[in-house]
Amino acid sequence: MNPPVRRLADWDAARLAGLADTHGTPLYVQDLDRVRENYARMAAAFPEGRVMYAAKANTAKTVLGTLSDAGAGIECASAGEVERALAAGCLPERVQYTAVNPPEADLDYAVSIADDHPELTITAGAEDTIDRLAERGFSGRLCLRVNPGVGAGHHEKVSTGANAKFGVPIERAPDLLDKADERFDVVGIHAHAGSGISGEDLAAHRELVSRMGELARRTDLDLEFVDVGGGFGVPYREGEEPLDLQAVARATREALGEVEATLAVEPGRYLVADAGVLLTRVNTVKPAGEELVVGVDAGMTTLARPAIYGAHHGIRSLAEGERETVEATVTGPICESGDVFGEYDLPAPERGDLLAVGNAGAYGYEMASQYNSRPRPATVVVDGENSGVDRRRETLADVTRLEREVTWS
Ligand SMILES: *Cc1c(COP(=O)(O)O)cnc(C)c1O
Repeated sequence: MNPPVRRLADWDAARLAGLADTHGTPLYVQDLDRVRENYARMAAAFPEGRVMYAAKANTAKTVLGTLSDAGAGIECASAGEVERALAAGCLPERVQYTAVNPPEADLDYAVSIADDHPELTITAGAEDTIDRLAERGFSGRLCLRVNPGVGAGHHEKVSTGANAKFGVPIERAPDLLDKADERFDVVGIHAHAGSGISGEDLAAHRELVSRMGELARRTDLDLEFVDVGGGFGVPYREGEEPLDLQAVARATREALGEVEATLAVEPGRYLVADAGVLLTRVNTVKPAGEELVVGVDAGMTTLARPAIYGAHHGIRSLAEGERETVEATVTGPICESGDVFGEYDLPAPERGDLLAVGNAGAYGYEMASQYNSRPRPATVVVDGENSGVDRRRETLADVTRLEREVTWS
């Protein structure tokens, strides 16, 4: 049994409550079995393809290790992610580093890793980046990131396909590929449209893939792969249907057309989102005129997506016993008016209640910050009957850990 989505209601309340008691709140809980299931569905939908996990969605060491063991490649957006992928035991030949306006130190690092592990692939999205790689003596596996001129996304901030920041204009690509071929081992072309492939959005996805297919046929180079990026959507709202992965895979193959190269996809959130929940405790219940404000110990520094993207995350109360349902505004402890999860119908909240925030496995912990000098939460992973701490909770001492007595000079 491998259902297309795990809903908040499917989580075992008693087990979550036990984890919150043991490890405290706010607490990220990530289920590695569910991560494996998500990977298995994705791999089955693209049987001849290559699945590259976009690490930025969740870099917990056990998550990277689990996906790598299952057969996924790892798509990294920074030197730090490459470092993490290798530390988690991912094979260098399955690691791809995609440089987005890379700082000097990131390129230095990537090239030094490629010296030791020539199987590593570096993806460049600007002619400038290609030159900077050559200047560093890199002559290894290079992939060209293309801007296909079409975008998709649930929010303008996650739509990248038509944004000039990402990739080289597709018209320039054949020429640049030829030029790059003189200096590197050109292995692939890459595009990522943004996040939010859904039933309605398939037209944009099709268009992107079809342009990539055309480019692959137009170049004379012998490409190993055509990477069409990630953005496979997950239902953030309870009533929303899960993505029809078979339909997406079919549309992708049709749009790509005949190419010699292997198709690669780069799911991030799809593999990890519904495998994670964020546990948080109610600390304040405040009637305010018509409104009921419910303060919890997780906020925009724990889970930033509602504040950044206006994203909705479902909330389930794990409190026991019958209670009347009330409408509540769930807010965090940060001194910012944007620090709000949203309005929810909940069993009348009481201080001490435990709430589970759904789909928190993707871009949750990764975007956590210490703003307001709040220590970051812990991540606990569960695997079958077992559980353990993957990232410990920060303490107040961690908040001041980097401070030095200034020695003036
Ligand atoms: C973020 C990102 C992805 C993954 O996006 P999801 O919406 O999480 O699937 C894939 N590829 C690249 C290059 C990315 O930057």
